[in-house]
Amino acid sequence: MNSIKIHGIGMTSQRTRRRLVQRLEEEGIRNQDVLNIMASTPRHIFIDEALSHKAYDDISLPIGRGQTISQPYIVARMTEILLESGPCERVLEIGTGSGFQTAILAQLMGKVFSIERIKALQDKARKHLAVLRLMNVEYRYGDGGEGWIEKGPFDGIIVTAAPAVLPRELMQQLKDGGRMIVPVGAMDGEQHLCLIQRVGDEFEKHILEAVRFVPLLGGALE
Ligand code: SAH
Repeated sequence: MNSIKIHGIGMTSQRTRRRLVQRLEEEGIRNQDVLNIMASTPRHIFIDEALSHKAYDDISLPIGRGQTISQPYIVARMTEILLESGPCERVLEIGTGSGFQTAILAQLMGKVFSIERIKALQDKARKHLAVLRLMNVEYRYGDGGEGWIEKGPFDGIIVTAAPAVLPRELMQQLKDGGRMIVPVGAMDGEQHLCLIQRVGDEFEKHILEAVRFVPLLGGALE
């Protein structure tokens, strides 16, 4: 027996998930592999039981320690953008959080390296991914702002907390042709999703839609 609770049929039913995926399509998600994985991945196991009736609503939800599980649309959108230039062999994720985004990436990419600064959150995420038998993930507890140089360079980097300015240190860990998707901007000001593509030693920057993320913070916490 594992410790994951499988909640009532209402929340896990195919119909509820199909409705979410239909909404993602309406919001403009086009990548069919991403839509299929969003439909088959149980988001409710990443959420506290008290909130799990909202697991398939297209909203972010609290996961404790002042953090949130990202909105499904954002998870799908960021994943779709990373995949635009083809499948990624090695992906670095900053901000494991609940592990839901990690689970989506693990099913679409070769290998995922995920860093989180709150140990309790990462420990929980790790258990949930193990229950889903997603084993192509390496976890690191620490400050993701420094990246994971020993494991790079990466085909893709995804940052799921917002730095105030572009994280140059992370950009350096992209492969030539690699892409980084990152929300940039102050917590109380405007934030935008930015796509950074490395071309040799140059970085092309595209500013995409307005978003709202928790801030990328320094240091590591127990
Ligand atoms: N993708 C996650 C998002 C979690 S919220 C999910 O959907 O569940 C963002 C996460 O980034 C939080 O867990 C927060 O603790 C983490 N974080 C913030 N700053 C960080 C840093 N410098 N290094 C690593 N993780 C960080």
